[in-house]
Amino acid sequence: MEYHSILEKQIRKFLITNYQENEELKKLLEAISKSYHTFERDKKLADHAFEISEKEYQKVNIDLQAQIDIRKSSIIKLKDAIHALDPTEVNNNFDEKDENLINIISFLEVQIKKTKQLETELISAKEAAEKASRAKSEFLSIMSHEIRTPLNAIIGTNNLLHYQDPLPSQKELLNVMKISSENLLSLINDVLDYGKLEEGKIVLAERDMNLKRFVKNLRSAHRLRAEEKGNNLRLMYDDDIPDFVIGDDIRLGQVLNNLISNAIKFTKKGVITVEVLLNNISDEFVEIDFAIIDNGIGISADKQEMIFDRFTQANTNITREYGGSGLGLTIIKLLLQLQNSDINLSSEEGKGSKFFFTLRFKKSTTSLQDENDKIQNSEIPDLTNTHVLLVEDVEFNVMVAEKMLQNWKATVDVAHNGEIAVDKVKENKYDVILMDLQMPVMDGYTATKKIREFNTTTPIIALTASITMDIQGRAFEFGMNDCITKPFNPNDLLSIILKYTKQPL
Ligand code: ADP
Repeated sequence: MEYHSILEKQIRKFLITNYQENEELKKLLEAISKSYHTFERDKKLADHAFEISEKEYQKVNIDLQAQIDIRKSSIIKLKDAIHALDPTEVNNNFDEKDENLINIISFLEVQIKKTKQLETELISAKEAAEKASRAKSEFLSIMSHEIRTPLNAIIGTNNLLHYQDPLPSQKELLNVMKISSENLLSLINDVLDYGKLEEGKIVLAERDMNLKRFVKNLRSAHRLRAEEKGNNLRLMYDDDIPDFVIGDDIRLGQVLNNLISNAIKFTKKGVITVEVLLNNISDEFVEIDFAIIDNGIGISADKQEMIFDRFTQANTNITREYGGSGLGLTIIKLLLQLQNSDINLSSEEGKGSKFFFTLRFKKSTTSLQDENDKIQNSEIPDLTNTHVLLVEDVEFNVMVAEKMLQNWKATVDVAHNGEIAVDKVKENKYDVILMDLQMPVMDGYTATKKIREFNTTTPIIALTASITMDIQGRAFEFGMNDCITKPFNPNDLLSIILKYTKQPL
């Protein structure tokens, strides 16, 4: 039997060598040795247990510290979130010193609920506004048709009467009527354009334009009116500008016409200068500075910003004295924005105004020589041998268009609705079809679609009372070749017919 090492040592030290002969003593020694072993094992276990609890204690301590840190940073983050919310709500109802996480979270919860509710309210308000805006557009589109149709009759009658050699006194009255009806038309166009611009429905065209001739024509168109008010209308054109650029002449004309009209309107016995200067030229682009300068009544500093807002004029008595809708500059601003430009103004009350902007055009490959060749090859416009089908239901419009076409010696057939038009195209050969869009029995879109099933070549030109791009776009989709807006002036109708009957103007 092996005793515990300590006991062994004591046995060797204190007992005689033959102690094993005493059975009683042996039993005692065995029991003591066993006790030594048990004690030692218990001690080891106790040491180990102590070691473990020490480690656990440290770990718990670290965890606890981490949790405290997380809680602290959570409180900071939550408070930041609360501050990002409605500040008045926070100022009134939130206790900055409160560090109780539960309180902070419940405050945040309430605020989130409120924000959600606000969001829902905003969404429904936005939907209501969109609905109202759609209703407004529909209303504008209907009004455009309703107003422009009788206006077509007035302008058409006027044009016809001019053809019938009126007496000089009658001519004067006819001119008053012409100017008034054209003013009314431009007012309606302004309202319509504004609506379309606001909805982003105006797309700019890209056409070759002879800028110098274009600006000169604008000046000629305004010269008489300027002179009537004792104004001198000057043009300063930079000859370094290339002869041709690519841009939307109609929209540029709208901007310049409006600015020149305003300058004439607000200047008496003064000078109005239209400045067109080259700003920059690169391989692809030409940048041009435009300015319309007058020495008229000017605009006071406090009104200079607001005149660009819709329906605003610098003075309330301006409408009485000068007329206008207050939409012109708003439309100009939106039209220039479409071309990544902006309108600028410098003005002094009593001294005059300068409206200016810069436009970037694409360079064109057309030259003056190309254009001269075209003009030399052209013949005198005459529509003899041109067979036109006029599809129109309103009797008066038929009369106006028919008279114009007959003046140019065209042969005209009339169809009063789309169905009759389809039959006529089956029976006859036409050089061009002028197609109204809104008609009873069968509208112009359906008629065009049916005609295109058996005839894909005869040019079809839509006659529309609405100038919106979506109507024009739809007309093209149905197979029409072009579009002319009623009330049309005789020259526009003539040039569009010539364009499609291959006789250059
Ligand atoms: P309106 O159709 O009334 O002329 P605009 O938007 O074109 O509308 O112009 C708004 C206002 O800006 C005008 O009513 C006028 O008060 C002022 N205004 C515009 N151009 C000039 C100018 N050249 N000289 C003085 N005032 C001008």
